[in-house]
Amino acid sequence: MSTFDYDLFVIGGGSGGVRAARVAAGEAGAKVALAEEDRYGGTCVIRGCVPKKLMVFASSYGGMVEEATHYGWDLLNKGFDWTTFSGHLNKELDRLEDVYRKLLAGSGVTTYDARARVKDPHTVELSSGETFTAKHILIASGGRPIRPDLPNAHLGIVSDDIFHMESLPKSMLIIGGGYIACEFACILAGLGVEVTQYYRGAQILRGFDEEARGLIADSMRELGVDLHTGTNIVGMDCYRGEDDEGMDAPVEVTQYAMPAKDGPKDGPLKVKATNGDVKVFDQVLFATGRRPNSDDMGLEEAGVTLGRGGAIEVDEYSQTKVPSIYAIGDVTDRVNLTPVAIREGMAFVETVFHGNPTPVDHTLIPSAVFTQPELGTVGLTEEQARDQEPIEVYCTSFRPMQSAFADKHGRVLMKLIVSQESRKVLGCHIVAPGAGEMIQMAGIAIKMGATKEDFDRTVAVHPTMSEEIVTMRKPMRTA
Ligand code: NDP
Repeated sequence: MSTFDYDLFVIGGGSGGVRAARVAAGEAGAKVALAEEDRYGGTCVIRGCVPKKLMVFASSYGGMVEEATHYGWDLLNKGFDWTTFSGHLNKELDRLEDVYRKLLAGSGVTTYDARARVKDPHTVELSSGETFTAKHILIASGGRPIRPDLPNAHLGIVSDDIFHMESLPKSMLIIGGGYIACEFACILAGLGVEVTQYYRGAQILRGFDEEARGLIADSMRELGVDLHTGTNIVGMDCYRGEDDEGMDAPVEVTQYAMPAKDGPKDGPLKVKATNGDVKVFDQVLFATGRRPNSDDMGLEEAGVTLGRGGAIEVDEYSQTKVPSIYAIGDVTDRVNLTPVAIREGMAFVETVFHGNPTPVDHTLIPSAVFTQPELGTVGLTEEQARDQEPIEVYCTSFRPMQSAFADKHGRVLMKLIVSQESRKVLGCHIVAPGAGEMIQMAGIAIKMGATKEDFDRTVAVHPTMSEEIVTMRKPMRTA
């Protein structure tokens, strides 16, 4: 008989925490509790992947209607209505949250709708005042978007706020050049918002393949995004109408800038950029990165060590410095993707409740950026691979049949990076509509260690865009 209230107490009801709790309770028969202070489903379901992808779908219909007319359809496009969409979106999120709650209850997990703190290596304290002991504690508290350290940054919004907008702004400035900035630039432009994007570096999507980044940037500009690279925000303030004398003055002035309440501002904002431009936007979205939710959780007091940006330090089994405390998902800032957090949760259960130490394999993780077109990627970029060993680069770029027929200029890119020595495909990068779907399949072959010759032996599916992945015969270059 255990002397603890629970075998496992999970802090955080997002994808990783819910999966670990369900599997530990349902399959391993452990006595499990989970505390969530906000909505069940976490970032992915409530304010990330799921509502974002639904917005990607919503934003693509305008272009589809335009294309359809070239195919002979006589359609009447009366425009996009945010109120209708967000009503349906909220209902869908309610339904999904309910599914998550039922899954937990169905697995026998006790849930607490409260904020939890670690009191000591075996005790969790809830905001409700209750205290519970547990043999193991799993921290799966995720992360949150951050604003840059800039005067008046609180006037702008972050990605969490997008889904709660009462109406679509006419114009929006997006700061950043990562996943979230680029995805929302495309989504909002597709919904009819005038989008300007400032990115401080030379090219958006740092860390991805250079050629793919270039094509995505071109495609975003073609979509109507006014993308400025090498540009950042230096100041922002409330805009006080046409007589605003501050337009030519430095906008760091803060005396009159405070909004009625300490939160995002609905009225127009004027923004000064590093290139000297001062422009007015209805809204400013900061997509400038995320930070682990590890503050004020009693972690360091309990002996858990935090690394850069507050990430919980863990070993390959997701175990912290305190043997009874584990951490998974974005709060550990390893690879911040939902399926990775789920894998980490499953590996934790296997390690702790099945006595089978299971590290998480963080190599060759396929992923997609849901820009328009999408970017699907797995393995090394050309730049990473050529620093590692001699490579061949197979690459083709073309106008896809469907949109070329409708006189659209957009191009797609299919690219393979191959080791000269082992012949293994080290990386695959696809820029195309549906690239997220394609890269999942390529990811299997590459994870299995497929060589270029294995790709060549595979018969093409014709006519498709992805057939080019198996028909590129001559390397474009070696490096
Ligand atoms: P990223 O880290 O991808 O991007 C942050 C961006 O903000 C970078 O372009 C960065 O520039 C810029 N930035 C950071 N600080 C400042 C500053 N002070 N001023 C101006 N610009 C700044 O973060 P995201 O928030 O876009 O995404 C977070 C994570 O969420 C991703 O890494 C990914 O793991 C996950 N995610 C995955 C998605 C998917 O799978 N499709 C979708 C959305 C998120 P610089 O490059 O110069 O550092």
